[in-house]
Amino acid sequence: MSLKEYQEKRKFDATPEPGAEVKDSSGKEPVFVVQRHEASHLHFDFRLEADGVLKSWAVPKGPSMNPKEKRLAVQVEDHPLDYGHFEGIIPEGNYGAGTVEIWDSGTYTYIEKYRNIAEAIDHGILEFKLHGRKLKGLFALVRTGMDGKDKNWLLIKKDDAYAVHSPYEAADIPSY
Ligand code: MN
Repeated sequence: MSLKEYQEKRKFDATPEPGAEVKDSSGKEPVFVVQRHEASHLHFDFRLEADGVLKSWAVPKGPSMNPKEKRLAVQVEDHPLDYGHFEGIIPEGNYGAGTVEIWDSGTYTYIEKYRNIAEAIDHGILEFKLHGRKLKGLFALVRTGMDGKDKNWLLIKKDDAYAVHSPYEAADIPSY
C-alpha cells in the first residue's frame, strides 16, 4: 500500500495532518472512522483500515442508517492510520483547508465475499458490519461504474435490526 498520493497533496510543514507513514495493522480488530470535514463544501470522510492504511471515500451527504438512502461515496487517496485520530483545522491555502472533526469511529468486521479488502475493492463490492457509536450493523459499498477505475461508489445501509426507516441526515447529528 502506498501513501504517495496522500503525501504529494500535502505540505507537512503547513498542515497539522499526520505524516505519510504505513503502519502494521498488528492483528487487532480493524477500525473505521467517519470525519466531518467542513471544507469548501461540507462532506463526511468514511475510512476503513486495510493493509496498514485507511481506505477512504468522501461522502457528500454523509452516511445514512436508512437502507433507502443510498449515499454517493467518492473514493479518494489512502490515508495513514494515524489519520483516524486526527481532528483540527487545516489552514487556508492547504489541500482540504477547513475543520475536521471525528463524527463516528469504532471497529468493523469484514464480511468475506472475496479473500480480502483489496480484492473486494477490485471487484467493486465491499460488505462489512460497523461497530460504531452512531453507525451500527451491516453496510455495503458498491462501485457504480463497470470500469474498475471508477471512483464513484454508493454507501448503503443493509436492512437489519439497526436500520432506521425515517430520513437520516448526518449533518444534523453532532460529532462527539
Ligand atoms: Mn475530506
